[in-house]
Amino acid sequence: MSRIVYVNGEFVNEAEARISIFDRGFLFADGVYEVSSILGGALIDNDAHLQRLERSLGELSMPCPASLKDIAEIQRELVTRNQVKEGALYLQVTRGVAERDFAYPSNTEPSLVMFTQARPLIDNPAAKQGISIITVPDQRWKRRDIKTIGLLPASMAKEMALARGADDAWLHEEGYITEGSSNNAYIVTEGGEVITRHLSNGILAGITRGAILRLSRDTGMKVVERPFSLEEAHQAKEAFVTSATTFVYPVIRIDGKTIGEGKPGPVTVRLRELYVEMALQQAAAQQR
Ligand code: PMP
Repeated sequence: MSRIVYVNGEFVNEAEARISIFDRGFLFADGVYEVSSILGGALIDNDAHLQRLERSLGELSMPCPASLKDIAEIQRELVTRNQVKEGALYLQVTRGVAERDFAYPSNTEPSLVMFTQARPLIDNPAAKQGISIITVPDQRWKRRDIKTIGLLPASMAKEMALARGADDAWLHEEGYITEGSSNNAYIVTEGGEVITRHLSNGILAGITRGAILRLSRDTGMKVVERPFSLEEAHQAKEAFVTSATTFVYPVIRIDGKTIGEGKPGPVTVRLRELYVEMALQQAAAQQR
Protein backbone atom coordinates (compact mmCIF):
# COMPACT_ATOMS: atom_id res chain seq x y z
CA MET A 1 0.00 0.00 0.00
CA SER A 2 1.47 3.36 -0.93
CA ARG A 3 1.46 6.27 1.44
CA ILE A 4 -0.37 9.53 1.44
CA VAL A 5 2.14 12.32 1.96
CA TYR A 6 1.70 16.04 2.53
CA VAL A 7 3.23 18.59 0.17
CA ASN A 8 2.54 22.31 0.38
CA GLY A 9 -1.14 22.28 1.19
CA GLU A 10 -2.08 18.95 -0.36
CA PHE A 11 -2.41 15.34 0.72
CA VAL A 12 -1.29 13.26 -2.27
CA ASN A 13 -0.18 9.76 -3.08
CA GLU A 14 3.60 9.51 -2.56
CA ALA A 15 4.13 8.81 -6.28
CA GLU A 16 2.42 12.10 -7.15
CA ALA A 17 4.36 14.29 -4.71
CA ARG A 18 6.45 16.94 -6.45
CA ILE A 19 9.06 19.48 -5.33
CA SER A 20 10.91 21.84 -7.70
CA ILE A 21 14.62 21.29 -8.48
CA PHE A 22 14.98 24.99 -7.57
CA ASP A 23 13.84 24.35 -4.01
CA ARG A 24 16.61 25.63 -1.74
CA GLY A 25 16.39 22.47 0.31
CA PHE A 26 17.61 20.56 -2.75
CA LEU A 27 20.26 23.10 -3.82
CA PHE A 28 21.59 24.37 -0.47
CA ALA A 29 20.27 21.99 2.22
CA ASP A 30 18.50 25.22 3.24
CA GLY A 31 15.91 23.60 5.44
CA VAL A 32 15.12 22.17 8.83
CA TYR A 33 13.23 19.12 9.98
CA GLU A 34 11.63 17.30 12.88
CA VAL A 35 10.86 13.65 13.52
CA SER A 36 8.12 12.79 16.00
CA SER A 37 7.34 9.28 17.11
CA ILE A 38 3.87 7.78 16.81
CA LEU A 39 2.54 5.38 19.45
CA GLY A 40 -1.05 4.18 19.57
CA GLY A 41 -1.74 6.48 16.62
CA ALA A 42 -0.70 9.55 18.66
CA LEU A 43 2.29 11.88 18.25
CA ILE A 44 4.61 11.82 21.27
CA ASP A 45 6.10 15.04 22.72
CA ASN A 46 5.00 16.78 19.55
CA ASP A 47 4.60 20.24 21.12
CA ALA A 48 8.27 20.16 22.09
CA HIS A 49 9.23 19.10 18.55
CA LEU A 50 7.22 21.97 17.06
CA GLN A 51 8.78 24.44 19.48
CA ARG A 52 12.24 23.29 18.44
CA LEU A 53 11.13 23.61 14.78
CA GLU A 54 10.14 27.22 15.43
CA ARG A 55 13.52 27.87 17.06
CA SER A 56 15.48 26.26 14.18
CA LEU A 57 13.51 28.38 11.68
CA GLY A 58 14.17 31.53 13.70
CA GLU A 59 17.93 30.88 13.82
CA LEU A 60 17.90 30.76 9.99
CA SER A 61 15.49 33.71 9.53
CA MET A 62 13.18 31.33 7.70
CA PRO A 63 9.44 31.97 7.87
CA CYS A 64 7.21 29.34 9.43
CA PRO A 65 4.90 27.96 6.69
CA ALA A 66 1.86 27.86 9.03
CA SER A 67 1.01 28.34 12.69
CA LEU A 68 2.25 25.54 14.96
CA LYS A 69 -1.39 24.74 15.69
CA ASP A 70 -2.17 24.31 11.99
CA ILE A 71 1.00 22.24 11.46
CA ALA A 72 -0.05 19.92 14.31
CA GLU A 73 -3.49 19.58 12.70
CA ILE A 74 -1.91 18.56 9.36
CA GLN A 75 0.36 16.08 11.17
CA ARG A 76 -2.61 14.42 12.90
CA GLU A 77 -4.55 14.29 9.64
CA LEU A 78 -1.61 12.58 7.91
CA VAL A 79 -1.30 9.98 10.68
CA THR A 80 -5.04 9.29 10.41
CA ARG A 81 -5.04 9.07 6.61
CA ASN A 82 -2.21 6.53 6.72
CA GLN A 83 -3.65 4.73 9.75
CA VAL A 84 -0.24 4.63 11.40
CA LYS A 85 -0.36 3.16 14.89
CA GLU A 86 3.37 2.97 15.57
CA GLY A 87 6.23 4.65 13.74
CA ALA A 88 7.41 8.15 12.89
CA LEU A 89 6.28 11.33 11.23
CA TYR A 90 8.95 13.27 9.31
CA LEU A 91 8.35 16.98 8.75
CA GLN A 92 10.56 19.28 6.69
CA VAL A 93 10.50 22.99 6.01
CA THR A 94 12.75 24.52 3.37
CA ARG A 95 13.15 28.15 2.34
CA GLY A 96 11.29 27.32 -0.86
CA VAL A 97 11.76 27.85 -4.57
CA ALA A 98 13.93 30.70 -5.86
CA GLU A 99 16.50 31.39 -8.58
CA ARG A 100 19.79 29.90 -7.37
CA ASP A 101 21.66 32.52 -5.34
CA PHE A 102 23.60 32.24 -2.09
CA ALA A 103 21.72 35.17 -0.56
CA TYR A 104 18.39 34.34 1.05
CA PRO A 105 15.61 35.24 -1.40
CA SER A 106 12.91 37.65 -0.25
CA ASN A 107 9.20 36.91 -0.48
CA THR A 108 9.65 33.19 -1.10
CA GLU A 109 7.03 30.83 0.26
CA PRO A 110 8.63 28.14 2.42
CA SER A 111 7.97 24.52 1.42
CA LEU A 112 6.38 22.17 3.94
CA VAL A 113 6.44 18.41 3.38
CA MET A 114 5.56 15.52 5.67
CA PHE A 115 5.48 11.75 5.46
CA THR A 116 4.91 8.89 7.87
CA GLN A 117 6.89 5.68 8.39
CA ALA A 118 5.10 2.76 10.03
CA ARG A 119 7.46 0.55 12.06
CA PRO A 120 7.70 -1.07 15.49
CA LEU A 121 9.36 1.18 18.06
CA ILE A 122 8.66 -0.54 21.36
CA ASP A 123 9.39 -4.11 20.34
CA ASN A 124 12.82 -3.70 18.91
CA PRO A 125 15.81 -6.10 18.89
CA ALA A 126 18.30 -3.22 19.34
CA ALA A 127 16.48 -2.16 22.50
CA LYS A 128 16.67 -5.66 23.95
CA GLN A 129 20.22 -6.60 22.94
CA GLY A 130 21.92 -3.22 22.76
CA ILE A 131 24.02 -1.79 19.95
CA SER A 132 27.72 -1.50 19.25
CA ILE A 133 29.21 1.82 18.28
CA ILE A 134 32.50 3.23 17.07
CA THR A 135 33.79 6.73 17.71
CA VAL A 136 34.76 9.01 14.82
CA PRO A 137 35.81 12.68 14.59
CA ASP A 138 32.89 15.13 14.56
CA GLN A 139 33.13 16.73 11.13
CA ARG A 140 29.85 18.65 11.29
CA TRP A 141 29.38 22.41 11.29
CA LYS A 142 29.37 24.53 14.45
CA ARG A 143 25.60 25.12 14.74
CA ARG A 144 24.49 21.63 15.65
CA ASP A 145 21.72 23.12 17.80
CA ILE A 146 19.85 23.92 14.56
CA LYS A 147 18.14 20.81 13.21
CA THR A 148 19.04 21.30 9.56
CA ILE A 149 18.70 18.84 6.71
CA GLY A 150 22.47 19.13 6.04
CA LEU A 151 23.04 15.58 7.28
CA LEU A 152 25.88 14.34 5.08
CA PRO A 153 28.58 14.27 7.83
CA ALA A 154 26.17 12.32 10.06
CA SER A 155 25.38 9.97 7.19
CA MET A 156 29.14 9.45 6.56
CA ALA A 157 29.70 8.63 10.24
CA LYS A 158 26.91 6.06 10.16
CA GLU A 159 28.38 4.52 6.99
CA MET A 160 31.82 4.27 8.64
CA ALA A 161 30.22 2.46 11.57
CA LEU A 162 28.45 -0.04 9.33
CA ALA A 163 31.62 -0.60 7.28
CA ARG A 164 33.42 -1.49 10.51
CA GLY A 165 30.73 -3.91 11.61
CA ALA A 166 29.17 -1.60 14.22
CA ASP A 167 25.62 -0.25 14.42
CA ASP A 168 26.27 3.45 14.85
CA ALA A 169 28.88 6.12 15.55
CA TRP A 170 29.53 8.56 18.39
CA LEU A 171 31.24 11.76 17.33
CA HIS A 172 34.17 13.28 19.19
CA GLU A 173 35.84 16.66 19.27
CA GLU A 174 38.99 17.55 21.23
CA GLY A 175 38.88 14.20 23.02
CA TYR A 176 35.27 14.52 24.17
CA ILE A 177 32.09 12.94 22.83
CA THR A 178 29.61 15.43 21.40
CA GLU A 179 26.68 13.14 20.48
CA GLY A 180 25.70 10.22 18.25
CA SER A 181 25.23 10.42 14.48
CA SER A 182 21.48 10.86 15.05
CA ASN A 183 21.02 10.66 18.81
CA ASN A 184 22.26 12.03 22.11
CA ALA A 185 24.96 10.05 23.92
CA TYR A 186 25.16 9.11 27.62
CA ILE A 187 27.34 7.11 29.97
CA VAL A 188 26.65 5.80 33.45
CA THR A 189 29.63 5.82 35.84
CA GLU A 190 30.63 3.21 38.45
CA GLY A 191 28.96 5.49 41.02
CA GLY A 192 25.67 5.38 39.06
CA GLU A 193 25.83 8.96 37.73
CA VAL A 194 24.17 9.55 34.37
CA ILE A 195 26.40 11.82 32.29
CA THR A 196 25.53 13.56 29.02
CA ARG A 197 26.99 16.62 27.32
CA HIS A 198 25.52 19.99 28.34
CA LEU A 199 23.42 21.94 25.82
CA SER A 200 25.26 24.41 23.57
CA ASN A 201 25.74 25.04 19.83
CA GLY A 202 27.78 21.82 19.85
CA ILE A 203 24.87 19.36 20.04
CA LEU A 204 21.20 19.10 19.21
CA ALA A 205 18.89 19.66 22.18
CA GLY A 206 17.15 16.29 21.84
CA ILE A 207 13.50 16.26 22.83
CA THR A 208 14.00 12.72 24.14
CA ARG A 209 17.09 13.94 26.03
CA GLY A 210 14.92 16.49 27.83
CA ALA A 211 12.38 13.82 28.78
CA ILE A 212 15.04 11.32 29.89
CA LEU A 213 16.81 13.87 32.10
CA ARG A 214 13.49 14.80 33.72
CA LEU A 215 12.62 11.13 34.28
CA SER A 216 16.05 10.29 35.72
CA ARG A 217 15.96 13.24 38.12
CA ASP A 218 12.37 12.44 39.14
CA THR A 219 13.44 8.93 40.09
CA GLY A 220 16.32 10.23 42.18
CA MET A 221 19.16 9.36 39.80
CA LYS A 222 22.14 11.69 39.79
CA VAL A 223 22.43 13.44 36.44
CA VAL A 224 25.43 15.50 35.37
CA GLU A 225 25.38 17.54 32.17
CA ARG A 226 29.02 17.88 31.12
CA PRO A 227 31.33 16.70 28.35
CA PHE A 228 32.71 13.18 28.85
CA SER A 229 35.93 11.93 27.29
CA LEU A 230 36.52 9.02 24.94
CA GLU A 231 38.40 7.32 27.76
CA GLU A 232 35.46 7.74 30.15
CA ALA A 233 33.19 6.27 27.49
CA HIS A 234 35.45 3.24 27.06
CA GLN A 235 35.46 2.67 30.83
CA ALA A 236 31.78 3.39 31.47
CA LYS A 237 29.64 0.99 33.45
CA GLU A 238 26.74 1.56 31.04
CA ALA A 239 26.17 3.63 27.93
CA PHE A 240 23.10 4.49 25.92
CA VAL A 241 21.63 6.76 23.25
CA THR A 242 18.29 8.54 22.99
CA SER A 243 16.21 9.88 20.11
CA ALA A 244 12.54 10.31 19.21
CA THR A 245 12.25 7.01 17.34
CA THR A 246 14.72 4.81 19.25
CA PHE A 247 13.66 6.13 22.71
CA VAL A 248 16.60 4.58 24.61
CA TYR A 249 19.00 2.07 23.04
CA PRO A 250 21.62 0.45 25.25
CA VAL A 251 25.21 0.65 23.95
CA ILE A 252 27.09 -2.54 24.80
CA ARG A 253 30.32 -2.04 22.85
CA ILE A 254 32.36 1.06 22.10
CA ASP A 255 35.31 0.81 19.67
CA GLY A 256 35.34 -2.95 20.22
CA LYS A 257 35.54 -2.59 24.04
CA THR A 258 32.79 -4.27 26.01
CA ILE A 259 30.76 -1.89 28.18
CA GLY A 260 29.81 -3.25 31.60
CA GLU A 261 28.82 -6.85 31.22
CA GLY A 262 28.19 -6.56 27.49
CA LYS A 263 24.44 -6.47 27.93
CA PRO A 264 21.92 -3.70 28.67
CA GLY A 265 22.59 -2.38 32.19
CA PRO A 266 19.96 -1.72 34.88
CA VAL A 267 19.96 2.10 34.66
CA THR A 268 19.52 2.01 30.88
CA VAL A 269 16.79 -0.63 31.04
CA ARG A 270 14.95 1.35 33.73
CA LEU A 271 15.15 4.61 31.77
CA ARG A 272 13.75 2.94 28.63
CA GLU A 273 10.89 1.49 30.70
CA LEU A 274 10.14 4.88 32.24
CA TYR A 275 10.21 6.61 28.85
CA VAL A 276 7.94 4.03 27.18
CA GLU A 277 5.53 4.23 30.13
CA MET A 278 5.42 8.03 29.87
CA ALA A 279 4.96 7.93 26.08
CA LEU A 280 2.13 5.38 26.28
CA GLN A 281 0.40 7.53 28.90
CA GLN A 282 0.70 10.53 26.59
CA ALA A 283 -0.75 8.48 23.71
CA ALA A 284 -3.66 7.24 25.87
CA ALA A 285 -4.43 10.81 27.03
CA GLN A 286 -4.73 11.89 23.38
CA GLN A 287 -7.28 9.14 22.62
CA ARG A 288 -9.64 10.45 25.29
N1 PMP B 1 21.32 14.54 18.03
C1 PMP B 1 21.26 14.44 16.68
C2 PMP B 1 22.44 14.84 15.90
C3 PMP B 1 20.09 13.96 16.07
O1 PMP B 1 20.03 13.87 14.73
C4 PMP B 1 19.00 13.56 16.87
C5 PMP B 1 17.74 13.00 16.26
N2 PMP B 1 17.22 13.75 15.25
C6 PMP B 1 19.10 13.69 18.26
C7 PMP B 1 20.27 14.18 18.80
C8 PMP B 1 17.96 13.30 19.17
O2 PMP B 1 16.95 14.26 19.14
P1 PMP B 1 15.42 13.87 19.47
O3 PMP B 1 15.44 13.23 20.82
O4 PMP B 1 14.71 15.15 19.46
O5 PMP B 1 15.00 12.92 18.39
